[in-house]
Amino acid sequence: MKKFKVGILGATGMVGQNYIRLLENHPWFDIVYVAASTNSAGVTYSESVKNRWQMTTSIPSKAASLIVEDVADVTKASKKCDFVFSAFEINDKQLVKEMEEKYASAGIPVISNASANRQTEDVPMLIPEINSDHLKMIKTQQKNHNWDKGFIVVKPNCSLQSYITPIYALEKAGYPIKKIIITTLQAVSGAGYPGVPSLDIIDNVVPFIGGEEEKTEEEPLKILGSVKDGKFIKNKEIKISATCTRVPVSDGHLATVNILFKDKKPTKEEIIKVWTNFKSLPQELNLPFAPINPIIYKNEENRPQPKKDRENDKGMAVTIGRLRDCNIFDYKFIALSHNTVRGAAGGGILNAELLVKMGYIK
Ligand code: NAP
Repeated sequence: MKKFKVGILGATGMVGQNYIRLLENHPWFDIVYVAASTNSAGVTYSESVKNRWQMTTSIPSKAASLIVEDVADVTKASKKCDFVFSAFEINDKQLVKEMEEKYASAGIPVISNASANRQTEDVPMLIPEINSDHLKMIKTQQKNHNWDKGFIVVKPNCSLQSYITPIYALEKAGYPIKKIIITTLQAVSGAGYPGVPSLDIIDNVVPFIGGEEEKTEEEPLKILGSVKDGKFIKNKEIKISATCTRVPVSDGHLATVNILFKDKKPTKEEIIKVWTNFKSLPQELNLPFAPINPIIYKNEENRPQPKKDRENDKGMAVTIGRLRDCNIFDYKFIALSHNTVRGAAGGGILNAELLVKMGYIK
């Protein structure tokens, strides 16, 4: 099979480096283009990241020799890439939104990790196991902008990745949920590189991450919502209250989750059965980055743990444990997902695989 030619925007950052690492031997995708800010542009990728490569494996040789381009040079990218992964960060979200639109307008599909377009009214926020039907909004988006081949699809914030699939699995099994209280314990890699200053995080927990609680409460409503007459209808049946904290862990966002069912309350055994049997479209299509079991339940009372469970199934599975009764809601449990893999680059790759398989990227 001829491989798709792929560009990484923000290739020098934490998420970008994970794309470079994870795509090294991808069966469908070949990295031909890397871009970052003007500070990094004009030298080889290996030169650009020589003092800040954060991965534990070496820089793949093919990517190492690519010249880093300026993200703003859309024309150059359009001549080389079939599609791009967007993982660049600019403080002004409007600039990120406009730049992603320029790529789409130039005929390049954009699979984004940034938050700028997550609430854009015609942009799908995709978790392939949950809402692949939202991809039909791509046609509406292209029509709204008069775009031909280009479009934008985003993935949600890394903070909600650990609990939204287990919640969806229960909803799909006929157990709708009314209320969720969630507290996240988020890894430092979630803040990018260099991220949180070491003296702020060593021997400490920071009980605030700007904008994170709003995203954790709002984004699930779009993902768990529906599409009707060319519009997203948010799921207003679920109320979420989130507290997001930063903890001195390198990778892996842990969350404590309390849930109250709308009506029927399943037994613990039923819930664990729903989770462990859960499979969806990426598994049916056998996509290369799809975890075999998207949800893994651990019976040990001291799991999941970031260090021991974040790499489960290529870092793409959510690991859950400690399902128990709650004195206020129905149940509580602990959930974990790898923030830079499932919550960022790996999630983006799975989105791209689904878009290829469904014929949106040609
Ligand atoms: P990061 O480590 O700070 O990397 C930022 C990237 O953006 C670098 O490649 C940087 O290039 C580039 N950049 C900075 N200013 C730019 C500009 N003016 N024009 C073009 N490119 C510019 O951040 P990150 O953690 O990788 O996050 C990237 C995106 O993914 C963000 O939107 C973030 O919210 C999202 N995300 C991150 C995670 C995570 O776990 N880290 C998870 C989900 C989503 P230089 O090297 O040249 O400065």
